[in-house]
Amino acid sequence: MKIELVGVNEDIYPLVHEMTHSLLGYGDNFQSDHGYVTQEGFASYMEDQYGKNKLYFEKYMKHYLDSDKLIPISKLIDPNQDDVYFRPELPNQKENQILMEMSYTHAASFVTYLIDTYGLEKFEQIYNEKELAKKIEEVYGENSSELEKDWLAFIQNQQGFTHEEKFKSGNFYDMNTILLQIDPKYFEKE
Ligand SMILES: [Zn+2]
Repeated sequence: MKIELVGVNEDIYPLVHEMTHSLLGYGDNFQSDHGYVTQEGFASYMEDQYGKNKLYFEKYMKHYLDSDKLIPISKLIDPNQDDVYFRPELPNQKENQILMEMSYTHAASFVTYLIDTYGLEKFEQIYNEKELAKKIEEVYGENSSELEKDWLAFIQNQQGFTHEEKFKSGNFYDMNTILLQIDPKYFEKE
């Protein structure tokens, strides 16, 4: 059994995040073939709710949105593409880290939106489901791109990081420099 020790913020040991994986499992046997979005999204949601530090998913998403650097949900839930985002293998280690953090943040914010808007009970029905796109439509009565549109409209209305928060975070500007170097193909819509 392998539990990865990767959080959205490398300075924080993501205890609640990993506890969530341990308690709820990961795929049927800690495999990633059930996709990453609901597992990593929910573990990150739990970390944000009950962990020591707030993770500011919405503020990061607002920044990605304003920077035109969004990863399409269709790619994150596609079993043939999700590894490229959640376990990237870019030659540049820093770009690798940022692309992975972005994927976790997208999953966390999307899952948080679904739970806050439609409740935990519905989310439980899509959690850890193998054919996620199909399951989402079945449970929510909307497909993932319709839900993505609603979610991004919500993000659009969120308050982004203030200048002060960007300075105080210590690594925002370094992160953003690397973000802008990542090949734009990762952010293209299908
Ligand atoms: Zn995880």
